[in-house]
Order: sequence, then C-alpha cells, then structure tokens
Amino acid sequence: MNIVLLGAPGAGKGTQAAKLVEEFKLPHISTGDMLRAAVKAGTPLGQKAKSYMDAGDLVPDDVIIGLVTERLQDADTENGFILDGFPRTSAQAVALDAELSKLERPLDAALLIDVDPEVIVRRLTSRRMCKDCGYIGTVADVTCPKCGGEMYQRDDDNEATVRNRLDVYEKSTSPLIDYYRGCDLLVSIDGDRDPQVVYADVKQALGL
Ligand code: AMP
Repeated sequence: MNIVLLGAPGAGKGTQAAKLVEEFKLPHISTGDMLRAAVKAGTPLGQKAKSYMDAGDLVPDDVIIGLVTERLQDADTENGFILDGFPRTSAQAVALDAELSKLERPLDAALLIDVDPEVIVRRLTSRRMCKDCGYIGTVADVTCPKCGGEMYQRDDDNEATVRNRLDVYEKSTSPLIDYYRGCDLLVSIDGDRDPQVVYADVKQALGL
C-alpha cells in the first residue's frame, strides 16, 4: 500500500505511522525524521535545513523533493510505503505524482488526520521524544516507556514556533486536502481521540 499521511504538525501522523509500520511492516518515510537525522549528523543537508526547521518554516522544495525521490528508489519501498510529512506544498505533490507514475506505483490513499489547531498547540508544547528510539510521548514521560532512553523537547515544539508551523500548514499544506479529494484519494479521520481508537478507524478507512 502506498500511503500519504496528511494533517497539521502534531495531529498524530507519526504516532499512526508507527502503528502501521509495526503491524504491516511498511517503510516509514518521514521527511522531518530524515532532516533531524541530517541536522544531528551535521551533513550539508542538515546545515542547510536547520535554520528553516528552527523557525518552523518549510525547507525549500527542491531540497526535500530530491531527498524523497532518492528514498523512493530504495528496494524496500517497492511493496508500499508510508509518507509522513511529505508532500507539504502543491509543488511537492505534483513532483511526487510524477515520480510515482514514472515508477508505476500510484498512491492508494491520502489519509488526513484531522485535529483542531488549539488542541494541537496544547499537544505539541507538551510533546516529548525519546533521544534513542524516537518514541513520541508527553511531558509526563520522564524516561522513555519503550526503551528507557532520555526524553527531550524538539527545538521547534515551543509555542511561538508551533503557531508559525500551524500558519505554514494552513497556507501551504492544507490546499493539498482539496488536491487529493479531487484525485479521489482522500480519507479523513477525526484525530482528536485516543490514538488506539484513531488507529482502528485508520485501518478500517484503508481497508486493512
Ligand atoms: P515534521 O517532523 O514533519 O513536523 O517536520 C519538522 C520540520 O522539518 C518542518 O517544520 C520543516 O521545517 C521541515 N520539513 C519536514 N518535511 C518537510 C517538507 N515536506 N517540506 C518542507 N519542509 C519540511
């Protein structure tokens, strides 16, 4: 299954992707995770991306399109993938369509996890991640419940940056909802519920 996850930052895309990955063994292509890894490793890509990410702005389209196009050549994506955080602009969506039609692997669904922006601000400012395994928890998790690792707050999860990320989402990414509706690929799920309940709906909506 070839799936694109849509939704504002903090809607729960990463959490739902992790569940799908675990159950269906699909590769999880998270552009945010790829960029954070590049920043941590200090690669040229990471150095270029860091200032955009810290401000909550989008990394330029050509950079991110190149990154995803390259990743889609890997053999592990041949039997399906979950794209999380990409596409985020119309140019990215068009480039993805072009690449997937070249590879003869069209999308099966664009899954929108829908959550009210004020709920998102509360969620993101209290979100914490595990330094070791990437587990997504909350401020209540002193250590990682999965691996015991140290939990930290992402640099871009402070309130001012979160509000900018939501503005960027509204302007640049939310038009993709209509784009995928027009392609008859959009599936929308209410994400303001317990992650397990959301996941049950996700599977039903995807026919899994
Ligand atoms: P995320 O973890 O998906 O919230 O992404 C964190 C940050 O990485 C975003 O705020 C952007 O600065 C950058 N980023 C991730 N994916 C993309 C993308 N598809 N296009 C542009 N920038 C991106």
